[in-house]
Amino acid sequence: MRSQCRVLGIVSLVVLIVFLGNANAVNITFTYEGIGSGTLGGSSFSDAAFTITGMGDTVNRSSFDFGTSKGFSIDDNSASIAISGLGTFNFVTPTRTFVNNTYYGVGFSRAESVGGTDLFYSPSAYAYGTWDMLSSIGPISGTGRLLQWTPTPAYGPVNTNAGVLVFNDAFPPATFQATIGSAPIGNIPAETIWGFRWYDDGMIFAYRYGLSFQNDQLIVDLPIKLTGDDPGDALRNQWKQGIEGIWGNRYEIVDGPFTYPLLFKVDWVDSNYDYIVTVRNATGRPDMLDWYTTVKGWGNNYQDEAAAHEAGHMLGLYDEYPGGTLNPDTNFTTTNALMADLGPVQERYYQDILAWLEGETNRDLSLAQASVPPYPFDPPIQGFYDDPPPGAVPEPTTMLLLGSGLLGLWGARRKFKK
Ligand SMILES: [Zn+2]
Repeated sequence: MRSQCRVLGIVSLVVLIVFLGNANAVNITFTYEGIGSGTLGGSSFSDAAFTITGMGDTVNRSSFDFGTSKGFSIDDNSASIAISGLGTFNFVTPTRTFVNNTYYGVGFSRAESVGGTDLFYSPSAYAYGTWDMLSSIGPISGTGRLLQWTPTPAYGPVNTNAGVLVFNDAFPPATFQATIGSAPIGNIPAETIWGFRWYDDGMIFAYRYGLSFQNDQLIVDLPIKLTGDDPGDALRNQWKQGIEGIWGNRYEIVDGPFTYPLLFKVDWVDSNYDYIVTVRNATGRPDMLDWYTTVKGWGNNYQDEAAAHEAGHMLGLYDEYPGGTLNPDTNFTTTNALMADLGPVQERYYQDILAWLEGETNRDLSLAQASVPPYPFDPPIQGFYDDPPPGAVPEPTTMLLLGSGLLGLWGARRKFKK
């Protein structure tokens, strides 16, 4: 098996690539599931469930035929692997999926351009004897095979965005499926989104959060370190539930026939945080990085709405009430909206997040009302206001910080009142 696979790569590379380039572009998603042990970036894992997702296009299908063995292959436009307990990572080494009609086999391999050496055989099945990669197939389960991940002089390492991935040779339980045409979005590894917002004649505030797409849902990560006074479990949970519920329950993402929930995740952490919030056992108006055990003027029924409002700033949003930290281009104000008077979240609040996912997938996406029950709001407060987001600094200082690479700005209180 091993030598034959390499022959497949070499022969087809030299002579037998046939592009059927007249077909319409139709996306095809290859999904492999298995269990394996190995190393990623030098760290070992064992008996971890994994899912490889390859995104290809049938217009790139090529065929091979060298007498005793014939079939087709499609190079992936992108491919990722989700490994249980580790996360999701993109393949940097080009990859593909092939079907060997003669041997009733399907497999995941390095692409032609890097030698074509095979990496993972899905369970064989008679259905693969006639599969031409222009239709959906599977899921088909059975015994698979992991092979040839350890680099040799004949074939190089398999690189991911988290380093070299090596699976030990094994024959694990495995499943393969190919979905043609419109397929749901595959897993996208976590990415940190950050930037600055201008306001008030050269003032600026910084924002930072994580985005990823996992298991058919968009995940927005806000890891926050709470410092200062202890708010207690009840208030901590009210903040967390407010942010997650108000932001996550209102809309879902529409992608043709598919819809995906938006999952907001607030984690109280001590390291790897995007924000440090100082908790004050006092009565006060919150700002992005200073939260109070009593919300001045409104009372603690509004702790969840107020935390969700501050989370809006953490996502890079301006205030929408007169006297707030307004978008200096529009000075937009309104009512009955989270960034104005603690009303509901608005579609426009999600435009950066949606744009990120559209950019990652080349798809046109939109929002629709979520099918889950709405978050139980307290009535909006006319005239809610908080302080400007701290982390706000006059322009020259920020440019200096940027120039020095000192982006540990988050958490530092740099507040300048008007
Ligand atoms: Zn605000």
